[in-house]
Amino acid sequence: MPLKIIRNSITLLKCDAIVNAANPTLLGGGGVDGAIHKAAGKGLLFECMKLGGCKTGQAKITGGHQLPCKYVIHTVGPKWRGGTNGERELLESCYRESLRLALEYGCSSVAFPLISSGVYGYPKDQALKVAVDSITTFLLEHDMLVYIVVFDRDSFRISEKLFVDIVAFIDDRYVGMDPIFSKTRRDVFDESTVLKTEEIFLPEEEDPAAFPPDFAAKEGKAAVPGSPDLKRGSQRSLEDVLNQEEESFSQALLRKIDEKGMTDSQCYKKANVDRKLFSKIRSNINYHPRKTTAIAFAIALELNLDETKELLLKAGFALSHSNKFDLIIEYFISSGNYNIFEINEALFAFDQELLGV
Ligand code: ADP
Repeated sequence: MPLKIIRNSITLLKCDAIVNAANPTLLGGGGVDGAIHKAAGKGLLFECMKLGGCKTGQAKITGGHQLPCKYVIHTVGPKWRGGTNGERELLESCYRESLRLALEYGCSSVAFPLISSGVYGYPKDQALKVAVDSITTFLLEHDMLVYIVVFDRDSFRISEKLFVDIVAFIDDRYVGMDPIFSKTRRDVFDESTVLKTEEIFLPEEEDPAAFPPDFAAKEGKAAVPGSPDLKRGSQRSLEDVLNQEEESFSQALLRKIDEKGMTDSQCYKKANVDRKLFSKIRSNINYHPRKTTAIAFAIALELNLDETKELLLKAGFALSHSNKFDLIIEYFISSGNYNIFEINEALFAFDQELLGV
């Protein structure tokens, strides 16, 4: 199951467990700890008092009390002391131990704040990288939906070089008038990037054929066989078009997985797509994926740009230079970087929808 990065207060999330960046006393503090205790009510403090504290890198679990989640997992992150005092190992241990507890308590969804990245001073870009690496290592072996919740606009930092490269790539090719990519990274973040809790669960399926052609063009969707824009000016009869037996997206995807010598699970995990969605695609030859799902598979399969476009077309989509999302995808494919989590970090930084589920 996938990793999702969202912006919100962790106290609002309706998942099985949320993780608290606690201090060793487990008796509450500032930052996310204070927010969690405030929202959970006194019952959480009373339960924490019985736990006898927690060592750095370890984790303990309590009930959620007045929070919308079932459990709170309390973990104590390392204080940043220059980076050469085992900080990374301790931070990795926080994620590992918290996920181990979540598994033990049967959680299917868990949300993390960026542990240690506040008062404890861990540089936010490095804290994010440790979070993503630790969680994705865990997800290779286990099925769980994991959220990283970033709270303040500075929390989410892709490297300066990557940011500048993407801006340059887009500036060279972008045919729209929106000046957003001339702005500095700090300007790119505004309140509109905040995803509300209700938006966490997006609909899985959409049928591109259901969209009128102008909408399809705006959304970077390709013309669907049989749609009015395809028929205009075409000499072919409708019957000709319908008789043209084309491989569907689902068939093309399964063929490509075989050609690449991957297993299904290797592919959907690398695509950050969950198993249930993959089974739906596998069992329904006419499945219409969302564009972000189709691209996630192209990334997992490490398709080049032409192959990606070909696969997208099977799902009724195209990549266009008047769409920033498409340009960012094109940037990563052209640079041969198929790390979906890095791509998602960049999409997030540019306020775009993320790949996978
Ligand atoms: P630490 O002491 O481990 O550094 P902090 O609570 O000071 O813990 O900060 C950890 C991270 O949690 C910071 O990036 C901070 O911005 C973020 N944070 C603070 N409040 C919330 C909240 N309500 N929801 C999610 N993240 C939060």
